[in-house]
Amino acid sequence: MIKNPIHSLFKTSLLVCFSLTSNYLQAQQIFSTNKYPITDFRQPLDIMPPALAGSFGEIRGNHFHSGIDFRTNQREGYPVYAVADGYISRLRVQNSGFGQALYLNHPNGYTTVYGHLQRFAPKIATIVKNLEYEKKSFEIDEFPEATLIPVRKGEIIAWSGNRGSSGGPHLHFEIRDTKTEETINPQFFGIDIPDNIPPIIHGLYVYRLNGKTFNESIPKQAIGITGASGNYKTLAPISLTGEVGFGIVVTDRHNGLSGTNGVYSIQLELDGKMIYTSALERFSFENSKAINSHIDYPTYINTKRSIQKSFVDPGNPLKIYSGLVNSGKINFNDGVSHQLRYIITDSKGNSSVLPFTVNAGSAPTVAATVPGGIVYAYNKVNEFNSDEIKVLIPQGSLYNDLNFTYKKLPKPAGNAWSNIHQIHNRYTPLHTGFNLWIRADALPENLRNKALIVSTGGSSQGGSFDNGYLKANPKNFGSFYIAIDTIAPRIIPINIANGKSMTGLSKMTFKISDNLSGIKSFNGYIDGKWALMEFDTKTATLWHSFDDRTASGKHDFELVVSDVKDNVRRYSISFAR
Ligand SMILES: [Zn+2]
Repeated sequence: MIKNPIHSLFKTSLLVCFSLTSNYLQAQQIFSTNKYPITDFRQPLDIMPPALAGSFGEIRGNHFHSGIDFRTNQREGYPVYAVADGYISRLRVQNSGFGQALYLNHPNGYTTVYGHLQRFAPKIATIVKNLEYEKKSFEIDEFPEATLIPVRKGEIIAWSGNRGSSGGPHLHFEIRDTKTEETINPQFFGIDIPDNIPPIIHGLYVYRLNGKTFNESIPKQAIGITGASGNYKTLAPISLTGEVGFGIVVTDRHNGLSGTNGVYSIQLELDGKMIYTSALERFSFENSKAINSHIDYPTYINTKRSIQKSFVDPGNPLKIYSGLVNSGKINFNDGVSHQLRYIITDSKGNSSVLPFTVNAGSAPTVAATVPGGIVYAYNKVNEFNSDEIKVLIPQGSLYNDLNFTYKKLPKPAGNAWSNIHQIHNRYTPLHTGFNLWIRADALPENLRNKALIVSTGGSSQGGSFDNGYLKANPKNFGSFYIAIDTIAPRIIPINIANGKSMTGLSKMTFKISDNLSGIKSFNGYIDGKWALMEFDTKTATLWHSFDDRTASGKHDFELVVSDVKDNVRRYSISFAR
C-alpha cells in the first residue's frame, strides 16, 4: 500500500506503473492517464542523473512553484537543450523574475520555458541585443514569428545560469499548455526524475471551526505523530466535538542530490470515503497566489511553517481540488469513533499514509457566531469609507467572509504626511489586493508628485495624487500612511573612475539603489549614444559589457538613474579602452 512496487520496472511511465498497482482506483483519481505525450520531450540538461532543487507545485512565498528546478552542481554554464523541435516563441529579459528566459512552442501544443539563463546561444543572443538597442531597454518581452528562430530537438539554445530571482545556479524548466498558458507538471511528460522515496509527514493539525470562517483567531492544535518510510501514526486517539478541519505539513525528497521538495497530492479519507483531494497536475498563473488560501496563512506569516489545510475556503479559485465533501470540513457530533487517513503521494507515485482515530463527542454543532467588526462577503465588492480614507476590496480578492476592522493611529515622526491607518490586519490573505485612498490635506502642493503610500514596515506601496487623496493598491492589509520621496537613487561605481583606462576589462560595473520608491529606469550613454546597461535586482548590480560598438580610444560616459518619483541621479566620466 505504501510504496509503488512496480516503480523500478517502469522508469519512464508513471501512468503505466499505476495501472498495475493495488492503488489503482485511488491513483486513477489523482494521476491523469494518457493525457500527455510521454516520448516527445528529452531532458533539457545532460547532467545525469537529473536532480531537482525544486518540484512542480512546491509551496513558495505567494505562489506555487510553476516548474521544476534542475540542479547544476552549484555552477553556471551547462548547455541547455531544446527538448523538442519547435521555434522560439518568446524572448524575455528581466531585472528579476526569470532574468533571461526562452520560450519554445512545439507542434504538439505545448510550450517549454527555460529560466535564469546565463547566456543565449549566439544566434539568439545577437537578436536579443539588437532588440535591446532598437528599444533602448534592457528589459524586453518579445514574441518572434514562428519562422524567425526555429530550433531542433537537442540543439543548444542557451547555457544555465543564476540570473533574475534565483537563489543559486539552476535551470528552471516549465511545460505549459500553449493555448491556455496553464503550467503542467513536467513529470507527466516522461521527464524522468529518479525517486523511490515516499513523502515525509512532519505535522498534523486540527482547526476548531464550528461554523466560523477560517482566520487567525480559529484555535489550532498540533496532534503528535510518529513514523517514517511511508508509515505514520498519531501518538494517541483524538477526541473532537463539533466542526473541524485538518491540516498537514509534508515534504518530499528524491533520490541522490535532491533538495527538500513538495509533494504531488494530499488526500483525506473519513471512514473509508475520500472527502478531500488536492493534486498539482496543472494550474493557471492567475490562481497561483491562492496558495495563501490553500495554506494556513496566519501560521505561515508568524512561523514560515506551511500547513496545507484539508478544507477549502469558499473564495479559493484553485482548480487543484476534487472529490470534496463539505469542503473537507467534518462535523464530529455522533458520539462514535471515526477512522481517518491521510494519503500523501509524490509526482513519481510514492505514497505515505497517516491513519488516525477520532472519538466524536455528542454535543450539537455550535451555531455560527459573528465576532465584532463589519462582515464583508467574500463574493462581493466591499467598501469602507471614513473622513480620512476610502477602502475598496474588489470582488475575487477575499477568500473568506471577513470581519473587517479599521483603526486610526497618530501620524508618526519623520517623513509622514498623514495619520497611520490600520486597515484590518496582515493575517488575512488577499488574491488581488485592494484599493486605498488616504486624504492628503497636510501635503503641500509642491510635494504632491513626490508622495506615495508606505506601510509602517517602511515599504513603498507606490501611489499617486488623486483629487485630494493619495491612491495606491496594496497587495496586503496592514498599517499605512503618506510619505514623500525627494531623494535621488545612489550610484556606486565599482571598477571605473574618471580618466581610467578600461583596457583589458570586459565590463564596467556599478551598484545602484533607491531609498524609498524604488528604481524606475537606468540609461547609459557612451559618447551620447545609448549603451546597453544590464541589471540584476537581487545583487543591485548594473553593468555594461564592452563590445565592438565601442572602438578603442577615449570616450565619454554618462549614467542616468531615476526612481519611481522621478528623482534623477547622473554620473559622468571619461574613460579609455
Ligand atoms: Zn524554479
